[in-house]
Amino acid sequence: MSNRRTLLQQIDERLATERGTITKQAPLRVALVYPSPYSVGMSSLGFQVMYRILNAREGVSCERAFLPDDVEAWKVARLPLLTYESKQPVGSFDVIAFSLAYELELVGVCACLELAGVPVLASQRGPRDPLVIIGGPLTFSNPIPAGPFADLIIMGEGEEVIHAPLDAVERGEGREALAELAHVEGIYVPSIHGDVLRPVAKAGEAHLPAYSQILTPHTELSDMHLVENERGCSRACTFCVMRRSTNGGMRLTATERILDTVPEYARKVGLVGAAVSDHPELPAILEGIVASGRQVSLSSLRADRLNDEVVGLLKAGGYQTITVASDGASERLREMLVKRIREKHLVRVAELVRAHGLRQLKVYMMIGVPNETDEDIDELIRFSQELSRICSVAMGIAPFVAKRNTPLDGQGFAGIKVAEERLKRLRKGLGGRVDLRSTSARWAWVEYCIAQGGQRMGLAAMEAWRDGGGFSAWRRAIERAGGEPQGAAPPPVIPRSREERLALLR
Ligand code: SF4
Repeated sequence: MSNRRTLLQQIDERLATERGTITKQAPLRVALVYPSPYSVGMSSLGFQVMYRILNAREGVSCERAFLPDDVEAWKVARLPLLTYESKQPVGSFDVIAFSLAYELELVGVCACLELAGVPVLASQRGPRDPLVIIGGPLTFSNPIPAGPFADLIIMGEGEEVIHAPLDAVERGEGREALAELAHVEGIYVPSIHGDVLRPVAKAGEAHLPAYSQILTPHTELSDMHLVENERGCSRACTFCVMRRSTNGGMRLTATERILDTVPEYARKVGLVGAAVSDHPELPAILEGIVASGRQVSLSSLRADRLNDEVVGLLKAGGYQTITVASDGASERLREMLVKRIREKHLVRVAELVRAHGLRQLKVYMMIGVPNETDEDIDELIRFSQELSRICSVAMGIAPFVAKRNTPLDGQGFAGIKVAEERLKRLRKGLGGRVDLRSTSARWAWVEYCIAQGGQRMGLAAMEAWRDGGGFSAWRRAIERAGGEPQGAAPPPVIPRSREERLALLR
């Protein structure tokens, strides 16, 4: 009993520190669920925007729920998954809408549905069960593995498309409307479309910029007001889901509109977007935030967009570490990836870090990209040592995972052993001069299998979750589902001629 009280108290404590919480009652009730804990979910701008949009609709109320920090404790306490606002069981709502960001969060979807008392598989739900909708960033690449758990999936930008299934529920239809909803642009109905990817939806300009509804100290981005200064990207990096072909390129928001969204009480502002530093008015936006005495944070920085003025403003806004991505280990790999970040850009940023007295430069990098060899890793070692002579350098390494909806779709995974060996080579070569952090090659392999998989891989995720969720459980489940998807695409071209370069830009 006391355990129950502690768990419920935690919700109360979190609610008490929030600003912007909406409490509303309406006939159609939507539970908006994040399949990771509160601190992660509340850092998601898309999740917050959907909360505002759903509550703004007449006749609809929306409450939030999250994967509990400790799922076992909730089970032991015999508590169902509850919404935060009214502490009602999620299973009692008309609609459950998930926001899904990463492949590995599929197990969180399974756990949330089970805790809610709703059949995990859509095929086992009846007329009394809520309609389960999945949306979120993962739908820009490959949401098909989430198919077995969803009655329908909103592809891409959900601000407008979300109303179609709600209209159906208001009409008293739910799953009966799926055949009709399957024709709506931006909706994927797994039971009808099977393993065929559907195009993503694009929301109208009226929805820009997206910005936070709730500020809370209990997130990874504590008490930070998030606002989108641009949406999409005009560039063409071949590994990236947000490249220009995904959703019509970059859409900019004017400086005043961005600054107008910041509430008086916000002390920190986070600029969010795929290519935040590509905004042509970035210095003016930063100046506006910094001049009001607030701290600033940017979700992405390109090394070739940083200059003395911008780094000075970032420092004034509280920055101590400049984080950029260079992604490919060598110049030739970055050329192939169309990343267009060259050594000279990184050297310049390192000099700016030193000149402005910042603590560190952090560089994100992928290993195991197609065509990569030990020579590329050796080039990275040589160059990183050079950089570390200018300023303190940290490196974040992630094994490359090919995503659907990108030119590198269909490239195989380098292999756990290869990724680990490259990492070992890098670590040894750097000899401690650079602070090296890497994500696990094993989990990157699991991510790859899901990213390139179909609904069967979603079922494998469910099996792995039931089997404890450890890596061995995943390996067994993936083997039973037919094994690792075989990358069938030919290796990408490393451009030598102008024509080859232009071909990569498409
Ligand atoms: S990696 Fe960054 S710059 Fe490249 S396409 Fe993606 S968002 Fe744009």
